[in-house]
Amino acid sequence: MTKDIRVRFAPSPTGPLHIGGVRTALFNYLYAKKHNGTFILRIEDTDQNRYVPGAENYIQDALNWCMIPYDEGPEKDGGFGPYRQSERKHLYQEYADQLIKDGYAYYAFDTSEELDDLRKSHETNGETFVYNWSNRTNLNNSLSLTNEEVSSKIDAGIPYVIRFKTPTNEILQLNDEIRGKIKIDTNNLDDKILFKSDGMPTYHLANIVDDHLMKITHVIRGEEWLPSLALHVLLYRSLGWEAPSFAHLPLILKPVGKGKLSKRDGDKMGFPVFPLQWTDPKDNSVSSGYREDGYLPEAVVNMLAFLGWNPGTEQELFSLDQLINAFDLGKVNKAGAKFDPEKTKWFQQQHLQQADITTLINQFEVILSEKNISTTANVQQIIETVKERATFTSDLWDLTSFFFIAPTSYDSKAIKKAWKDDTPSLMHELTRILNDITDFSETNVASIVKGWITAKEIGFGKIMMPLRIALVGSLQGPDLFLIASIIGKEETIKRIKDTIERN
Ligand code: GLU
Repeated sequence: MTKDIRVRFAPSPTGPLHIGGVRTALFNYLYAKKHNGTFILRIEDTDQNRYVPGAENYIQDALNWCMIPYDEGPEKDGGFGPYRQSERKHLYQEYADQLIKDGYAYYAFDTSEELDDLRKSHETNGETFVYNWSNRTNLNNSLSLTNEEVSSKIDAGIPYVIRFKTPTNEILQLNDEIRGKIKIDTNNLDDKILFKSDGMPTYHLANIVDDHLMKITHVIRGEEWLPSLALHVLLYRSLGWEAPSFAHLPLILKPVGKGKLSKRDGDKMGFPVFPLQWTDPKDNSVSSGYREDGYLPEAVVNMLAFLGWNPGTEQELFSLDQLINAFDLGKVNKAGAKFDPEKTKWFQQQHLQQADITTLINQFEVILSEKNISTTANVQQIIETVKERATFTSDLWDLTSFFFIAPTSYDSKAIKKAWKDDTPSLMHELTRILNDITDFSETNVASIVKGWITAKEIGFGKIMMPLRIALVGSLQGPDLFLIASIIGKEETIKRIKDTIERN
């Protein structure tokens, strides 16, 4: 029987979720859904010094907005809770004790002053101090002290940490689903702290204990955790547990140059690096988000999926369901993925075309009401007329405002080009023709007006250009007869008369 796939997204609530974090969550979600597995949210909040109020809510809101909700997590118990490490504090000590008992870890009493001195003296000699196999038996810990000395220190309440006793002289053969085989010489590793003097586990211990207890089968996380892989695999082995599979996702790189994408890149080039707007509780500074900038979650998800993954075909536009179907960890790249703000806009433009028309109508109606416009016009038809040229719903207003508000000023270049001496009398004549039309549908108005122009033998531009100026205010916009039919006979005639008066 194959095991149920269980994956987790394990952010630390230290601030707003960067889009790199959302990408990690998304890949976990896609992998889980593809294999009918479970997607878990675990909040890694053991480091109380770095805890930021509001960050956990932000993470949850961001996942919901991106349409990748978790199956198990805080407030959604699947039998493996609690899902916040701060609520699991009592669980970790026993595993640290077990490691000590079995000889895989040791108590270390070195004070921070002692360690600082060691660091400094090494630096003076041009070396780096590393707490490891080479010096651990000479330092202030249970490997160098007698059992009695250790017990009396602990009984006296002297603070200690628990360190991992990294095995020596071993070449570890690790496997990463994306990078393949990786060899690590254990002599190059340091003895990481597993348990802190404040009674809290470090990330390393809590993370693997929780992954084990939550029966996680696949750890899919950012590349920045690759250096911890050896320690994690050794911890599983030392605790006698089977390790999950690991996949480390490539970094998301700056649009230009080298290095990790940062908030500064976004600020400089004018794009958000957060899914939702974030107000920093410390200084109330506001960082922009994709949602508030008018992006559709479908576009953001599609863009994120392509940061480090591609289906191996030409297809670029994907719905979430299509992504679930196509997703394959084996097709995730090792190399860092360059973030491309222009491509992000392209995804947005494309997804706007495919968006559910009711979503667009709803968003557009918010804009109309902000502009105090109440209308009986067919908003759906108006949106569909111009949608092709819009990237954001907010563009729809610029492309359609003339449907709702008559022009009050006119593009001077257009006037110069199209408004001639005989234009007023032709426009008067046109208003009379329009006035006689009873069926003011697009096709009927078009055929009558075109028939009249043809009969007069004056050339289309002479009528159509001034008419466009009258209805739109410039020489831009969709089909004129469509505009006329939407704004109606009275309004069409009124706009023509106003234009004659004003020019
Ligand atoms: N809490 C870690 C983070 O903030 C989780 C790393 C992991 O997924 O193991 O990224």
